[in-house]
Amino acid sequence: MPIESPEESSIEASIESPEGALARVRADLAAQLKQLNRPASAVTLIGVSKMVPVERIKLALAAGLRVFGENRIEEANAKWPPLKTAYNNIELHFIGTLQSKKAAQAVALFDAIHSLDRPRLARALAHEMHAQNRYPQLFIQINTGKEAQKSGVLPKDAKAFIQACRTDYGLTIDGLMCLPPVHEPPAPHFALLQKIAQDNDIRLLSMGMSRDYATALRFGATHIRLGTAIFGPRQPTKPQ
Ligand SMILES: *Cc1c(COP(=O)(O)O)cnc(C)c1O
Repeated sequence: MPIESPEESSIEASIESPEGALARVRADLAAQLKQLNRPASAVTLIGVSKMVPVERIKLALAAGLRVFGENRIEEANAKWPPLKTAYNNIELHFIGTLQSKKAAQAVALFDAIHSLDRPRLARALAHEMHAQNRYPQLFIQINTGKEAQKSGVLPKDAKAFIQACRTDYGLTIDGLMCLPPVHEPPAPHFALLQKIAQDNDIRLLSMGMSRDYATALRFGATHIRLGTAIFGPRQPTKPQ
């Protein structure tokens, strides 16, 4: 940890505690679901703790949060094994781009992987799941906005890829995930993800982030991934 400058500590002090933010998010989620006539148990709240320091994660753990999302294997491996020893029932979701060569580490640490999007990764995960006898839930990421820089299967290729995962690699596909383009209204993307899931008999929908989860819930989201809404603003990422 860098030494805090006075400015940094005053920023820190102005940020809400994860405990308070979590209470607010939980109340809002319950109200939204009630309005939609969906049971509270229908949705899993994933606290996205990427770039969040362990001390701050511990505050969310103290407030009872047990489901967390990370997007980098190295960071997750550094932060989570000790926390898994110290706290019961932690459930970890991998939400970042996954390199096939890191499939073994992903299968070993995570309980769900939201970013399956290519045959090579499907093969690597199938191999590791058998080898480790550990079966994380699998979500296929769909690039609903057809963005060149983004991971995910194109909507037109979804059916064939889902089929290949099932028959060629023997995988159970539990859900679909999407990350709508930042500058577009998210609703059409959530609707498309819901449609692809229905057409392919897929049960779970990982969609909705801090600013659009209310919309995602209307389209049947079963997993919402909230970072900023729980932990506050993150440090900016280094350009890749
Ligand atoms: C960072 C991230 C989130 C959380 O984003 P917020 O806007 O902070 O809620 C959700 N999903 C993925 C895939 C992410 O990378």
